Formats: sequence, structure tokens, C-alpha cells
Amino acid sequence: MMIFSKKKIIIFIICALFATENVFSSERALISKIRFSGNNEALRVIIDSNNLIKHEISAFTNPSRIVVDLYNVKFSKDFSFPQATGVIKGIRYADFNANTSRIVFDLNESPNVKNVKVLKPSAGSIRRLSFDIISNKQTSTIKNKKVNKNYKLRKTIIIDPGHGGKDPGTSYPKVVSEKDIVLRFARILKKHLSRNNNYRIFLTREDDSFVSLSDRVSFAKSKNADLFISIHADASSSSNTKGLSVYTLSDKGLDKEAEKLAAIENSYAMVGTSYSGNYLRNARNPSDFVKYQRKLIDNRFKSTKFASTLTSRVKSKTPLLNNPLRSAGFAVLKSDEFPSVLVELGFVTNEYDRKNLRSGNWLQSISSQFVNAINEYFK
Ligand SMILES: [Zn+2]
Repeated sequence: MMIFSKKKIIIFIICALFATENVFSSERALISKIRFSGNNEALRVIIDSNNLIKHEISAFTNPSRIVVDLYNVKFSKDFSFPQATGVIKGIRYADFNANTSRIVFDLNESPNVKNVKVLKPSAGSIRRLSFDIISNKQTSTIKNKKVNKNYKLRKTIIIDPGHGGKDPGTSYPKVVSEKDIVLRFARILKKHLSRNNNYRIFLTREDDSFVSLSDRVSFAKSKNADLFISIHADASSSSNTKGLSVYTLSDKGLDKEAEKLAAIENSYAMVGTSYSGNYLRNARNPSDFVKYQRKLIDNRFKSTKFASTLTSRVKSKTPLLNNPLRSAGFAVLKSDEFPSVLVELGFVTNEYDRKNLRSGNWLQSISSQFVNAINEYFK
């Protein structure tokens, strides 16, 4: 992503506009209802609205609470908050800033959020954002029943094939499209990894559908990811530029061009505020702040460790880009919940890379090296 053709940047800008118009309308989403279902053991919070809601859900302790930030929403005239129930002991609301409405669910016990879902309308025009608050009492009984050594050792790996649907990513016209290559590779990698019972593997998209960047991250959070690997392919204005590269999250613009692209990709996905930034802002007291900061630093360290393991493994099978370990502010990397990397498999604009990217054998052999790197990382 360091070397850009004008064409590529234009493609991204068009996608950004397209996405803004079609995915999250500029009009505020109207929230008609917030309701609860389920029971004390697993309480589901459901937010009904007339449109997709940009959101971020965070959990905190001391005091135990779940903070739901909803971006660009308004509430219907007859809206009122439901009565607190079960694990929820209180509900608070504030306009966090002009665009962010913050709802805080205060809890009786430490927060355990699962199954964050955005449901498309099944009937009428209602859309739903929902998540479950699982009682620790219930979780502990499940754990007691199910615990076995293998289960405890299992690691959850999220493979994130970039782009999809109306967002094709980069392409070499009429020959290769990034969204197709990365999905093909992700499927191969999932198959390889599935042979190891110690891994649970999920793809952020299983087919050629559009998934927003924030939904990819939310999905990974909901699965309690141990490692998040985003798969992409690159383009360059120079047809000589080739090789694989691996990105981790940067603090600041280490490379202006990469940051520019990351900014465009991020706006595309509507993640206006960074996840890591939010965590730090949400901290209510110095000890929270230190805790989140530590988690962030720890996961960045792990991300970098995995990135270097991966590059040293794949280099026997494919050329690497100069300085293959890079960093930029890509939205899918902006979670402090789990280590994450973004891999550019190669350049569709380079003949050698292009041939590889289209070759099943090459994808298989690179996938094997990913498996080796993942095994080594979790060892
Ligand atoms: Zn991409």
C-alpha cells in the first residue's frame, strides 16, 4: 500500500462516496425502541432503528458497565428507555458529542458481552442492532460442564478477506480483482488451519458480500479473537514493484501515503474515531486508563511479533516488498482487544505477482507458510 497509482486512490475515493451513500445514510438513523429479551442468564439488548447504526460497544469494570456509542442517530418522539432488568441495574444516557449518543448500561456484575449482531430487516423497514449480556454465573456453570484441556487451548483466529460486494478493492482490469483473490486465499487458509483442532477459525465474509470494516472488527470481538489476519492485494503505479508485505497498526503517520490511504479506507467504513482512542477516552479513572493502555501495548507487541514470524516464514515461497514490515492506521487493525495484522499478498500490477496470485499452487504454498507462522506464534 506504500506505492500508489492515481488510479488506485481514485478507486478508493469512489468507493468511499458510494459506501457513504448506500450503507450509512447521511440522515440520522431513527431509533424507535430499545428492548430486552432473554433472562437473567443471557439478556439480549435489542436496538430497533430505521437504518444501519454506526456503533461501538465497549465493556468496563469499576464500575461494571457496558457503553454503547451510537453515531449519527436520533430518537423517535415516543421513545423511552426500558426498565432496567436482570443483570442491568441502571441505564444512563448522554450526548457524548454532536454526533455520538452514548448509552451506558450499569451492571450488577462484571460485563460479558457476546454476539454483537446487526440484522437486516426481515419484515418492514426495522433494522436491529443487538448484543447479549451473559451472566458470569451462567458462564461459569457452562464452563464447568464443558471444560476439557483441548477446549481451553483452542485459539480463535479471524481471517478477514478484504473488500467484497460492491467494493472490489484493487484490480488488474479483466484479469484479477482483489476481492476475489483474497476470498479464495482465505478459504484455503481456513481449510488448512481447520486440520488443527486447537484452532477455531472464522471468516469475516464467506462470499462476495460487502461487510463494513467496523462490522469486521465487531465480529472478531464477538468471537473473542486471539488473532486477526486481514488479507489484501496491492497495486502500484510501477509494474516492477512486487512482493508481500505485512502491516501492523501505527501510532502516527509513519508513512504519509499509507496514512492517506488508511484514512480513505477508514472513512469508507465509517469508523471516524479510532477504537484504541475511544478506549483511552472512555477510561473513567487513572487505573482504567493504565489498564487499557497496557492491553493496547501488549497487543501491539504481539501483532508485531506475529508479523515478523509471518514474513520470515513466507519469504522462502515468495518475494517480499522492500521493508516488508510496515505500519499504518488501518481501521481493521484498530482494536486493542486482540493482535491483528494486515497482509498484502502481492501486487496485481506486477506480472510475476499477478501470476502467483492467480495460481492455486502458489496460494496453497503461501497458506502453508501462514499455518507454520500461526503455529509458531501460538507455541
Ligand atoms: Zn485491499
